[in-house]
Amino acid sequence: MRIPQATIQQILSSVNIVDVVSQYVPLRVKGKNHWGVCPFHSEKTPSFSVSEDKQIFHCFGCHAGGNVYKFLMDYKKISYVEAVQELAQLLGIHISYEDQTDQKEISELEELYELNEEVIKLYNTELYESTAGKTAFDYLLNRGLKQATLRAFQIGYAPANRMFLSDFFGANSRKASLALKIGLLGKNDQGRVYDRFSGRIIFPIFSTNGRVVAFAGRIIEKSEYAGKYVNSPESSIYSKGKILYGLSHGKDDIRKTGNAIVVEGYLDLISLYQNGIKNVIAVSGTALTEGQAMLLSRYTKDVTLLFDADEAGVKASMRNVDVLLRQGMNIRVASLPSGEDPDSFIQKNTPADFLHLINQAQNFLEFQTIYYDKKGDLRDPLKSADIIRELLRPVALLDDPLKQSRLLSSLAERFKLSQQLLEDELYKIQRKNQDLYKPAVEPPKSRVQSETPASKAPSAQRMKFERFILKALLEGEFEIVGFIKKNIELSEIEDSQNKKIIEIFYSLHDQELDVTPGAVVDLLQDQNLLEYFTGLAIEPYTVSEEWEKQYPSLERNLRLQQMVLDIVKRFKISRIQEELKQLQHSLGTETSPEKQSVLLGEYKELRDTIKIIESKYKTIDNEEIEE
Ligand SMILES: [Zn+2]
Repeated sequence: MRIPQATIQQILSSVNIVDVVSQYVPLRVKGKNHWGVCPFHSEKTPSFSVSEDKQIFHCFGCHAGGNVYKFLMDYKKISYVEAVQELAQLLGIHISYEDQTDQKEISELEELYELNEEVIKLYNTELYESTAGKTAFDYLLNRGLKQATLRAFQIGYAPANRMFLSDFFGANSRKASLALKIGLLGKNDQGRVYDRFSGRIIFPIFSTNGRVVAFAGRIIEKSEYAGKYVNSPESSIYSKGKILYGLSHGKDDIRKTGNAIVVEGYLDLISLYQNGIKNVIAVSGTALTEGQAMLLSRYTKDVTLLFDADEAGVKASMRNVDVLLRQGMNIRVASLPSGEDPDSFIQKNTPADFLHLINQAQNFLEFQTIYYDKKGDLRDPLKSADIIRELLRPVALLDDPLKQSRLLSSLAERFKLSQQLLEDELYKIQRKNQDLYKPAVEPPKSRVQSETPASKAPSAQRMKFERFILKALLEGEFEIVGFIKKNIELSEIEDSQNKKIIEIFYSLHDQELDVTPGAVVDLLQDQNLLEYFTGLAIEPYTVSEEWEKQYPSLERNLRLQQMVLDIVKRFKISRIQEELKQLQHSLGTETSPEKQSVLLGEYKELRDTIKIIESKYKTIDNEEIEE
């Protein structure tokens, strides 16, 4: 589906986000921004703000944020394309799609969604109204589910008649061929078409926005001949590795609680939901994929793995640790009393008991250590070396050095090992991992080599200056972006989030496109990045206003120019000052006179560089810009 970029931009520059949002959320002006009660989390005092200047929204409570498209997508649970289409209609802008085949594709996708909606309604009716469905219905009620819950998850029943759907659609109809395409119907060796899910309880699988993309069918009675579950195959609307069961129903609660509980089965999730615990997703017996972990990380960075207490459950939870760690998630593991699964536990206990269990969850490393300890493997010196290596493996996946060193010291203490030994071992594993997880795209080669390794988190001082640069870019002035682009290379930016945002400003400038925050926000895919960006953009503080106070007599353009000069200068000098500090430290500890003189030479060179920078970026004044 292609809507021309120009049309997307045209809409953005014609629409006023305040008008659109205020149709759904009552807003009041306070200071520079409009404020309202956030529609994305529950609150009493407004922390949801909309900026007319910057054409973005941001909530200081739940950090939701974005431009007008994002607002419509999240508020109305529609797709990006639908949001663009809706605004185009509102503004009377005609969309001429770039490619006719794209348009055909989109309408076929739409047909597939509609087909699923139609089928799930049929299955719902069967569950509630047919005689055969009654068995399934009673079974579900016996398992403790209430009718309202069944309705909330649109659970249905596919009749045992294997011709049910094809009879309904007509054997050669368009719908029958679409149903074959997404696996509602199957074809046997003799070319006969049959209903894939016949005789099963149907759990529709929802996209994050709540559309039915696939089905899982569960048998009622255990059978030697049939698997417990039958699932839809992958299709143009269903990519298994990118859908998380339960996210459609639980995403708001995941945001609100800041935690996602991961369970194994659909029924576990549904049962918890019925008991008011909604920040849950289910992995349905398989390991989480990279795509699923990435999707989840858009809603929260904290997950609690909750698995059945048996050995298989423990193994399953450990399998998911790696993939979650690579997304930078904080993982805790909660264990159920032996013999229980989440469904049975919540039926015998209160929601408060369950939450207590979640609150008792252990850090994953601690959990693994205790697990091996219980198995007795740690007392065997041969085995314990392997186990320590096994325990270090996930630690190596963290990209937070501080967290890593904390975990290492806790391991060192626990196993009475030297931290150095563990660090060496960790380094070996990291080297191996680097080969395994090389980024698909090489980072851009820079003329100026960064002195500090990329893995090191930038200092608070550097973050402050990088944010100044961002603040200057957020003025949305084409010339300012151009000046900064000319003077600051991406490789000089250390923080990866800052770098990604600045990269987008630069590339919009390269293409001579709009560089306003509303346009930049449209290109931010990552949820965390989006929240960070809108938060920064909507902060009441802006550098230009600060400068306005200091230099009221200067004309706006000149003032902005001077401001940017000053920011670029301070940014560059702050980098060198950090190097100087390190050099000073090395000078203090270096004993060899030859090496000392080399260091001194470097020191002088850096001092000279500062002088050059100072004269290159001359500004009116050297007064501090304070945040
Ligand atoms: Zn909010």
